[in-house]
Amino acid sequence: MIELIEVTKIYRGQQVPAVDRLSMKIEKGETCIFVGPSGCGKSTTLRMINRMIEPTSGTVLIDGQDVRQSDPDRLRMGIGYVIQQIGLLPHRTVAENIAIVPRLYGWPKEKISQRVDELLALVGLDPATTRHKYPAQLSGGQMQRVGVARAMAVDPPVMLMDEPFGAVDPVVRNYLQDEFLRLQREMKKTICFVTHDINEAIKMGDKIAIFNQGRLVQYGTPYEILTRPANDFVRDFIGYDRAVKLLSLFPVEKLVQRRAVTVTRPEWARAGEKVADQRAAGCFMLDEAGRPAAFAPAGALAGTDWERQLEQGREALVQATTLLRDALSLMLELGRDCLGVLDGEQPAGVITLEEIRQYTCRKEGGL
Ligand code: ADP
Repeated sequence: MIELIEVTKIYRGQQVPAVDRLSMKIEKGETCIFVGPSGCGKSTTLRMINRMIEPTSGTVLIDGQDVRQSDPDRLRMGIGYVIQQIGLLPHRTVAENIAIVPRLYGWPKEKISQRVDELLALVGLDPATTRHKYPAQLSGGQMQRVGVARAMAVDPPVMLMDEPFGAVDPVVRNYLQDEFLRLQREMKKTICFVTHDINEAIKMGDKIAIFNQGRLVQYGTPYEILTRPANDFVRDFIGYDRAVKLLSLFPVEKLVQRRAVTVTRPEWARAGEKVADQRAAGCFMLDEAGRPAAFAPAGALAGTDWERQLEQGREALVQATTLLRDALSLMLELGRDCLGVLDGEQPAGVITLEEIRQYTCRKEGGL
């Protein structure tokens, strides 16, 4: 656990504190995102945790121990650090770059070599083809992965990441974010992560700390920040699309109705009746192997033929793990107000536009 107590940083020659009496706790195993406009003190805060910057006043504790009691070099060796510019040494190979901290710890050669390969595989790079390359021979996304691997070399419990995915294009960034989330689910490290991008904060954070002018303006889960912004600054920082962002937090599963009516082709004439009996929003159309092939909404059943419905409803299926935002987008695209929800190949229920509306609608207890 990391704890900052009344931490202030006033840079030499400055009147205004870069960080102003900051107190916060970052729980063990959580990812805490520092977010806010440029110059609000995010990086300064991050660097005071590993003593790259010394606070003017206040205390930083890691697992209850004051960081001032640790030798700065040893402290930094034990904390993973990833930056936007990556900072790989250009004249060292990928393997040598990753091995820097393990070497400082005096690990035997064999153990280092094994660890390098393990880490490269972990971050999605092929050890055999990547190990001996130089940074200039890698793409931006590959370099960033090596940067993450290097920071994790000695398996530090704490990682500090300063705009780690800021220098890669949006497609690669999205991919790296997903990979990072997957890794973090397994490793449960305590992570402080700086970004200026609220969408990245919402996607990556267990907690989000919103800074403005050196002060912590709000600290909470993405859900708390989105549903209860502390003030107009936070509201503006989140943007107009607060409802849509809220829908990006949860999968369809959260709102799904557990009633899933199924019909086979021989039953098609009775589909309307079956759906009405169950008061369902529609039905799954099963193919000959009994797998859901399409979803037909209740209103469209009377007097239409199987083939037409099958064709029209093929795309009206989502997985339970699909984000609510993406399900809403699909509804808008298809012009439908309900979709069939699958759990793998099994019908799991139905998601309706009305439920999404109720969930986000301020008047009905949402935002
Ligand atoms: P952020 O990471 O949120 O962009 P920083 O922590 O880098 O913000 O900076 C906070 C404030 O401190 C800014 O006003 C910045 O100009 C100032 N600052 C940062 N580093 C220094 C420095 N080395 N000397 C003087 N002022 C600095």
